[in-house]
Amino acid sequence: VRQHVEPALWLILNKEINHLPPDLIRNAIGEAVRHQVRQLSPKWLIYHYPMQALMALMLLIVVIAGSLYYRSYMRRRHVEAIQQMAYTDQRYMLPNMLWLEQELPNLFSRAGRAAPGKKFYCVVFAMESKSSVAEMYGRDLLDRQFRDMSANLENKTWVLKTAAGIDAGHLVAICVAIDDEEIIELAVGAVQQFGYVATSDARISLHLRAGICSLYEGDFLQQIVERADIACQEGDGTTGAVRFFDTSLQEKLALQQKIEGYMEKALAADEFQAWYQPKYDIETRRIIGAEALVRWQSAELGFLSPGKFIPIFEKNGFVIPVDFVLVEKTFALQKRRLEEGKEVVPISVNQSRLHITEEGYLEKMQAIVDKYQIPKGLVELEITETVFGDFDQKEHREHAANIMHSLHEMGFPLLVDDFGSGFSSFSMLDYLPMDVMKIDRSLLVASDDSDRMKDILGNIIRLGKTLHMSVICEGIETEEQERLLLKLGCRYGQGFLNAKPMPGKEFVEFMEKRNAEVDAKR
Ligand code: C2E
Ligand code: MG
Ligand code: MG
Repeated sequence: VRQHVEPALWLILNKEINHLPPDLIRNAIGEAVRHQVRQLSPKWLIYHYPMQALMALMLLIVVIAGSLYYRSYMRRRHVEAIQQMAYTDQRYMLPNMLWLEQELPNLFSRAGRAAPGKKFYCVVFAMESKSSVAEMYGRDLLDRQFRDMSANLENKTWVLKTAAGIDAGHLVAICVAIDDEEIIELAVGAVQQFGYVATSDARISLHLRAGICSLYEGDFLQQIVERADIACQEGDGTTGAVRFFDTSLQEKLALQQKIEGYMEKALAADEFQAWYQPKYDIETRRIIGAEALVRWQSAELGFLSPGKFIPIFEKNGFVIPVDFVLVEKTFALQKRRLEEGKEVVPISVNQSRLHITEEGYLEKMQAIVDKYQIPKGLVELEITETVFGDFDQKEHREHAANIMHSLHEMGFPLLVDDFGSGFSSFSMLDYLPMDVMKIDRSLLVASDDSDRMKDILGNIIRLGKTLHMSVICEGIETEEQERLLLKLGCRYGQGFLNAKPMPGKEFVEFMEKRNAEVDAKR
């Protein structure tokens, strides 16, 4: 303002201001400021400083857009990181089943165009991730082989995608082939190619197996993978390492599901029965004992032999309560016979390997012993040799040995069941208090037409005797086998030739009749 006013006039004004009341001056200044501020409105600014205003506006827009972009970028990164984690198998750093499930429709549409007319399959490859291999060569070696297998398979034209799935050491592949035969052939080739790892000094077998299941658009992938996995587990010496999920497996699976559905109820309804197969003196034919074998008289499924359900119960742990049922029923039978003053022979009961790691096993066995109060030695326990072959580590073996010693002290004689059937751990005979060697049927069958096997059988019998064990052979079906066993020095036997397993009442009648006959001849 000052620039536009006469200096003289300015002086006069300054002087006169001093005569004005302070309130009036304050009001006047306030009014002037308000006027100035009113002038600083956006409109005023744009009018007076158009370029600067435009630049400020652009700057503002850039800042807002930048911060919005940054926010969404960070969000996307975050979502990607979470997705990456959710869709990746953290052990092998490969896509996992969740990813495969999402990707499946794309695979179908892409392959439908690229390979029209081909059928789809889900192949599960499973490699042995057993601790013994891992312990010896390191887990890294196995993991690396697994990732290599995945990468190599994806390079093959018949493999669309692979993912790590179900369990450690399981690779799931979505594949195409002309028909079932072709996919089996391809899978067999893959198993041969990837089933070994070569190190500088060894060629390690990974015991690779494969299971195959047909896959159709709209199928529930998880179910198909489960079926392929079942086929994979069923592959054995006769079917080879590759197996297709067919109707027979389908029926088996359905039965397995029913068995698992009814087992609890069956236990409560006392449907598990103890049958007894006599053991006899081959020379005199006298009945000298029996083996208790479980049978399931199911209200829903009918009569089932243990081959149908024991392997399932071994897997799901239900064999533990079932074994106790048999132990209890056998004690009850012996007690009844003693109370009636009748002849009593030792009866053996099979014990699953699961008891070795079962919490409170010894206490439960002791409780049964205390409940029935019968002389020691009348109930024996059969334990398969694989119980000990399985334990890789020394402390596990020692734990198992402690249990065996405790059972022995409680009054249970111990039998090695199926001796010679698997990879025998002969060393168990050294450190375990085993009383009876029960030779597996397979050795007897193999001896039928092989002189070498006869020699082996003879030497096994001698081994048992040298270790002061009683020796019995199971599965005798012919008189010729009886003669061979007597010649080789094995006096006791069990088998269909003498008698099949039978219910308790029949067994005691059978035994009484037979032993009366034998004794009368003497
Ligand atoms: P295992 O303990 O080796 O029992 C002998 C099996 O051989 C029985 O089959 C018996 O019936 C069969 N056998 C007997 N004599 C002959 C013969 O001359 N020829 C042939 N071919 N077989 C004969 P089973 O009763 O079917 O039992 C099969 C397996 O199931 C048993 O083999 C045992 O490992 C298991 N098992 C049976 N009952 C029980 C149980 O109560 N608990 C447990 N944990 N396992 C059981
Ligand atoms: Mg047995
Ligand atoms: Mg046996």
